[in-house]
Amino acid sequence: MDFEVTYTEEQQRFRREVRTWLEANVAPSVQRTPTSPEDNYQRYLELRALGRKLGAKGWLYPTAPAKYGGGGLDVDHAIILEEEVDRLDLSLPPYYDSGGRLGSASILVWGTEEQRQTFLPPIYRGEVRTWQLLTEPGAGSDLAGVRTTTAVRDGDQYVIKGQKIFVGSDNGTDRIWMIVCTDPKGRRHENLSWFMIDANLPGITMQPMELMGTGGEGGTDSGVKQTVFFDDVRVPALALVGGENKGWTVATTHLELEHGGGGRIGRSRVWDRLLRYCQGTKRDGVPLSQQPDVRDSLADIYIKTEITRLFGLRNFYLTYARKPKSYEGPQLSYYRKTAGLWMTGAILDAVGPAALTTDPTWGSPAGFLETQQRNGIVSVHPGGTTDIQRVQMARRIGIGRSTREKAGTVHGAEA
Ligand SMILES: Cc1cc2nc3c(=O)[nH]c(=O)nc-3n(C[C@H](O)[C@H](O)[C@H](O)COP(=O)(O)OP(=O)(O)OC[C@H]3O[C@@H](n4cnc5c(N)ncnc54)[C@H](O)[C@@H]3O)c2cc1C
Repeated sequence: MDFEVTYTEEQQRFRREVRTWLEANVAPSVQRTPTSPEDNYQRYLELRALGRKLGAKGWLYPTAPAKYGGGGLDVDHAIILEEEVDRLDLSLPPYYDSGGRLGSASILVWGTEEQRQTFLPPIYRGEVRTWQLLTEPGAGSDLAGVRTTTAVRDGDQYVIKGQKIFVGSDNGTDRIWMIVCTDPKGRRHENLSWFMIDANLPGITMQPMELMGTGGEGGTDSGVKQTVFFDDVRVPALALVGGENKGWTVATTHLELEHGGGGRIGRSRVWDRLLRYCQGTKRDGVPLSQQPDVRDSLADIYIKTEITRLFGLRNFYLTYARKPKSYEGPQLSYYRKTAGLWMTGAILDAVGPAALTTDPTWGSPAGFLETQQRNGIVSVHPGGTTDIQRVQMARRIGIGRSTREKAGTVHGAEA
């Protein structure tokens, strides 16, 4: 068996085209760590502008159908594009747009043609960004327990009220992709519905929550979360995706991707910087990277970051080449989260208290190690905790259930 990855001449030409375009269109300054809230907002605007440029080329959502404004690229070209974006320490989209990513996939599978034509092009072209609102004060891991936020039909509108918590990011959003209860007396799994709504409607208010992580895969999320209140918010009936009380079916698509099923292309953002730091920082006159105990830790950290990268690549390939999948999504998510948490201890052991400070005189550059310490802990929670990934995996490999649970559908019939 030959494991070597090879590229055709045409694919190599595409890589050169992408690299040249990115060099011309991505200012090196967008890779900076923001130094103030104003700078954070400024950087966000720069990333949104880059997103619109990528969207105009169909490169913001490369595998999405071209007829709705996506790239229509096959999996090999999409991997090349994602790898080139990753070289610049960015991801696609280059800003937090998880409601766009997961909501658009769900609309492709479960939405009507009118909903696809209305909601998808602005997402794929980078004209809007979307947050996903699932968690409530009484429903986190137990998503089927959503009850606090309700929607009631009133003529050709729905009226939404209630509260979501731990959601979104900072710098605001244009759209909201949310799950609500549409039948408070209904049976579990038969009482929920999804809506894609305008975030600027009257009756929506947001209250920022300062959390300890900077969160987010690929550094796209600042870590600020919101509590969002809905006070009799009127939305058009068109906003209901997948049918009233059919929300648990739609959730199978959303959760398959959120639980790692879509994979991820890219290196560990921490590894390269950690290696450079250990090569350039001395203890007792000897670089950390030459201390036997630190070398052991670095080797173990490298192995785990590589396994995470390869699981991500495998899942991306399986999904966008439309191959069968089962436990691979939660396996990636579980491994990434537990490896990230383990790494906080390994890095602390290897470099000592310098991992805990943002002080530039003896900490790591831009405090990246201190950020890793917080993120390694926080990342265990969003998108399904480690416990939930374990439950999902068990159901799919046949532990504890007589019938193996299937992976959720993530492709519409049209593409
Ligand atoms: C940084 C961050 C970003 C987030 N972003 C979003 C967002 O954008 N949108 C959104 O909707 N939500 C978001 N969340 C919320 C996140 O989805 C929830 O925190 C998560 O689902 C867990 O829910 P919970 O906090 O209510 O904990 P709980 O569900 O109360 O869980 C508490 C503990 O019990 C364990 N547990 C629960 N059920 C089981 C079970 N069946 N078996 C074994 N153990 C179990 C959990 O693993 C956990 O350790 C975010 C959270 C964080 C921290």
